[in-house]
Amino acid sequence: MNTTLIAMAVAAIAAIGLVVTVGIVSLLSGGLHFLFARPRIEFLKSEFGNEGFAFSFSWNATREPAKFDKVKVRLFNPFGSPTQVEVSREFAAAGSDFARDAYMGNGMVRLLEAKGLDNATVEVEVISTKDSVSQYFSFKGHKFVKMLSEATETVKDIEEKLPGKAPKPIYQTVQRSFIADPLPQSSKTIKLATNPEFAGDFAAAGGSGGETQENFEVSKVWIDPGCIVCNACEAIFPEVFEVTDDTCLIRPDAPLNDGLKIQEAAEACPVEVIKFNKAG
Ligand code: SF4
Repeated sequence: MNTTLIAMAVAAIAAIGLVVTVGIVSLLSGGLHFLFARPRIEFLKSEFGNEGFAFSFSWNATREPAKFDKVKVRLFNPFGSPTQVEVSREFAAAGSDFARDAYMGNGMVRLLEAKGLDNATVEVEVISTKDSVSQYFSFKGHKFVKMLSEATETVKDIEEKLPGKAPKPIYQTVQRSFIADPLPQSSKTIKLATNPEFAGDFAAAGGSGGETQENFEVSKVWIDPGCIVCNACEAIFPEVFEVTDDTCLIRPDAPLNDGLKIQEAAEACPVEVIKFNKAG
């Protein structure tokens, strides 16, 4: 009896000890990661081919808050040709882990095709111009080229994995009807301007006496610089406009056949940065 109790007590103490040890190790590793985790860059496949530089960048944004908005790639090739190449590109600022595909132009081609890369060094600098912060990564020339040529994942692939960076889902809005049930006496329906179905009927409202406006297709819609992220456009036409933390984007598969609604969003934009071309 006593032996059994002692064995159970020992097992219980061992179990508690294990739980405590695991807890301490987790805390320590979390703390160590917070204190010592280094910024990390991964090379990605650029949609611009040899004229582009695609990469993902992660760092401890809690410990080092900054908004990165520029990348610079420099070749130091003292024994080869050309001996030095430097290309850089600014991009939309990001305050947490991000991926970007930067068009670098012909300079990037010269860098990748330089002679003597075995003895060269390539330095990649990820920069926050506003916060005056830079992170440097250095590679042997041939290794840099190899890593870029072997990259298979694209920016899109990475963005789908980043927390909070996946494209916002489009929620199907409930079809709201502002048409009253037919009146039993007259069987007539009530038309209201807020019902898109009757938008055309009310286009001339405002006393101008103008003609009703037919819907149209647009060939292109874009956002000029200056968006103040007020969300008005996305509220009107979420299938076309996606408002992010610092700007508004046009969804890649945006439907362009409802020009009236795009025009409505453009007219609602308080800073008039929504532009579009009518098709045809
Ligand atoms: S309505 Fe204009 S300012 Fe507002 S989020 Fe859309 S584009 Fe930006």
